[in-house]
Amino acid sequence: MDNPHFLNCDQEPIHLCGHVQNFGCLIVFDKFHNCIGWSENCQEIGFPRECLHNGLHLSTFISNLNLSHPIDLDRVLLDNVEIFKHRYVSDIHLQNGTYYLSIYPFDDKIFIEIEKHQSQSHQFKNIYHYAQHINNGKDIWKALADNIYTVTGYDRVMIYKFSKNGDGKVIAEHVSEGLEPLLGYHYPEFDIPQQARLLYTKIFARVTPDVDAKPIPVLGINPEMLDLSMTGIRAMSPIHLQYLRNAQVRASGSFSIIINGKLWGLVACQNTIPKTIDLAQRHLSVFIVQYAVNSFLANKQIAENNFKLKIKSIEFEIRQSLFSKQDLHGVIGSLSPRLMDILRADGIAFKYHNKWHITGSTPHLNSIQAIENSLITNNANELFWQSDFKWPDNDIKDLSHFSGIAKIDLEYKLDFKIYFFREEVKIEEIWAGQPKKEFIYDPNKPINFPSPRTSFEAWKRTVCGTAPKWTEWEIDFLKKLSIILQEACVKKITEIQALNEKLVEINNILETFSYTLSHDLKNPLAALQMTAQMIRDRPGLSQEFLGKAGKNMMEAIQLMNNMLDKTVDFARTKSYDFEYEPVYPERFIQNIIDDCKVRYNIGKLQFQKGKTLPIDGEKTLIYQLFLNLLGNAIKYSSNKGTPIIGVDSVDYGNTIVYKVWDNGIGISAEETERIFEIFHRLPNAIQFDGSGVGLSIVKRIVERLNAKITVESTLNEGTTFNIHFPKKNKDLKSTLPTNPY
Ligand code: ADP
Repeated sequence: MDNPHFLNCDQEPIHLCGHVQNFGCLIVFDKFHNCIGWSENCQEIGFPRECLHNGLHLSTFISNLNLSHPIDLDRVLLDNVEIFKHRYVSDIHLQNGTYYLSIYPFDDKIFIEIEKHQSQSHQFKNIYHYAQHINNGKDIWKALADNIYTVTGYDRVMIYKFSKNGDGKVIAEHVSEGLEPLLGYHYPEFDIPQQARLLYTKIFARVTPDVDAKPIPVLGINPEMLDLSMTGIRAMSPIHLQYLRNAQVRASGSFSIIINGKLWGLVACQNTIPKTIDLAQRHLSVFIVQYAVNSFLANKQIAENNFKLKIKSIEFEIRQSLFSKQDLHGVIGSLSPRLMDILRADGIAFKYHNKWHITGSTPHLNSIQAIENSLITNNANELFWQSDFKWPDNDIKDLSHFSGIAKIDLEYKLDFKIYFFREEVKIEEIWAGQPKKEFIYDPNKPINFPSPRTSFEAWKRTVCGTAPKWTEWEIDFLKKLSIILQEACVKKITEIQALNEKLVEINNILETFSYTLSHDLKNPLAALQMTAQMIRDRPGLSQEFLGKAGKNMMEAIQLMNNMLDKTVDFARTKSYDFEYEPVYPERFIQNIIDDCKVRYNIGKLQFQKGKTLPIDGEKTLIYQLFLNLLGNAIKYSSNKGTPIIGVDSVDYGNTIVYKVWDNGIGISAEETERIFEIFHRLPNAIQFDGSGVGLSIVKRIVERLNAKITVESTLNEGTTFNIHFPKKNKDLKSTLPTNPY
């Protein structure tokens, strides 16, 4: 035998049932405003018989009604069908009393519902108090249940919240005395099938005044052509009605709680005897639900802002502490209690450079190692969180009851990882009957159809192995924390790099400093030594010679003093400050040449002297510059039969360009850049005394003076250095002042 077909609740087309409930009438018009259907009970409510027939025009129908306010049909029917959630409502007076007439367009048709006034006017006078009750109540949902109880008078009003998996739980309740409270009860997902949930998002209020009332057929139209999704008086599914009967409920009502466009929950109302809630009460209830939702969202926003503030402050602190000299161990260690508070964690464990640090209640380190291994095999990402973590090893499970785990893993990037642990919270769930779906076989069709539950006996189950869920905000914070840690550490690395560069620079300066001293003082010292030797070795020197020698010695000492001072300044500050002043190389070029001749022991030297124009600069720096260039020129041409060196300068308006040349060993073209590097000496210079420092000093001086230096050279023929000095003072006199310094 073939397996009989199974029909699920969610396969039942409840919106195409072709029936309405007996507390109202339905009249349907097509898009041309011609009547195409009406519920069988229209005459019962005192509707004039002649009023209803196929093809009756909507405007005739309306004008036959004794309306208290005329309806602007064009406006009512212009409303966008898709977003149409409410209807236009007016009072009409029929034979048996006052009725509500509601009119709305839907599915290319115009629907008119008529139902009797039932409500008491006092229920609508206290709207302000309903709002106050929600505003002042500690629990918005309890206040909402109270309010709906006041408006509707149902003997049980429950606030029912859907969970992610579709189950639901009663989170607040107002129940009449003598009835058993159902607060905290869980209901299975299949109690409210999918298509019913979908309808709740379209129409926010549904009522069943009497589960035993006979449904009324809609005449004149095939049920399949009549979509009753928006119809407030639509008949209920027989399965649902049986479900209510089984639960001892004779009347029910439900109002949708929609948050951010999604069905968040329901206000589910029940009554032990039949009860009619009229349109005005339903509308007021929907309004109050909306008010509660708005308050809930506002409170959520405030809580979110508070949480964000908390996060901001700790973020700030982490950044600040990490950017200052503290280490990750210290920073995270000291902030652990606050991180635990923000993340509702029972404990924190973090590992940095292979050292673990633990705060609060955490699994044993061995157990953490086991998680590590299991996460590695599961390919967990940088960020991981779970609230029902299954411990990889049964033995460890006995030791650990931490079902909530969140982890930031920056091991590969920063050698850092941090775990947040939440202890397992065992939850006693009470279910309204065992959540088990049952089917009944109908041999006539043949199908299995779902049997409405018969048992609502409290059924308990203990949920183990879960910890409180990580919320969206908490996950966001974890993401932020991960970014902060990375940024801070990257910043630190950059800082270290900058520090290193600084160190290299300081080192350079120090080296330059000592080399400058040992290098550049050699010339004046050599001159001093020579003069002193001469005085010692040649007694009876003339007074005139001694006077000249004394003067030379004084000048050399003065020069050395200046050089010492300037070199110290030069080395001490990165940007050596000086005031530009006119410097006259004329004054010292000859002295330098003379001293160098002595130093390099050169007898014959041809000095080709051109113009020596004044320069804007600083005299000691410029002295050192020429000292090094002329010194090299003499040194590296000293092996020639007749060394020739020369100095000349040209005024180009904005710059003074000096040339210093020689006919020495020359520099190969590919090496011209490198000669300014400290300690870099060329192979052809090895036979000459030297340290590779002089030109690096020249380069620094040139940079400080905002000048430029270039070199032209041919091996074995000679070298020319060109120095471009910027002119600061355009009126710089080209001749030496009469009163030299
Ligand atoms: P040092 O002369 O003490 O070796 P410098 O820094 O003054 O150090 O010069 C660096 C190198 O540049 C020298 O070793 C030499 O190879 C080359 N050099 C500098 N000036 C000249 C020049 N006038 N002629 C040839 N080579 C030179």
